[in-house]
Amino acid sequence: MTIRITTVPRAIKEFGPPDKWPEYEVYVGRACPRRGLKASPLANPYAAESLPGDRGDDARRRAVRLYRDRLQRLLDVREVRPDRFPEAHDAISMQAVIASLRLLGSRHGRLVLVCWCFHENEDGTWQGKRPCHAEVIREVLGAK
Ligand SMILES: [Zn+2]
Repeated sequence: MTIRITTVPRAIKEFGPPDKWPEYEVYVGRACPRRGLKASPLANPYAAESLPGDRGDDARRRAVRLYRDRLQRLLDVREVRPDRFPEAHDAISMQAVIASLRLLGSRHGRLVLVCWCFHENEDGTWQGKRPCHAEVIREVLGAK
């Protein structure tokens, strides 16, 4: 299975509004009602803007690091006991979401994770990318 990361504008350009996207185009960001996007269970709960210190890509890197730690922690839970692990519900949900993405990916032979974090020029060429939690998701999915 191949896993690519793309942007919301590019997916909209290719397929139209989100409800027209193929099943393997999976939005992984926060809610964006203006574009008809619901919050993904894979969205990063750590917003770069809300972290102390520098704005820009440093803050984004920190937000991605926090995301990676949390995702790994939730996926590492083997014995889900709410009395011992306050994030038990999150762990069950996250493991189910990742498992369903794996199924989806193997059914289509590919997955496209859709976020906002790539800069795109007017002509559609890449200008570069910013640190993005979708890369963590791609790593986790590719890890098995
Ligand atoms: Zn992103």
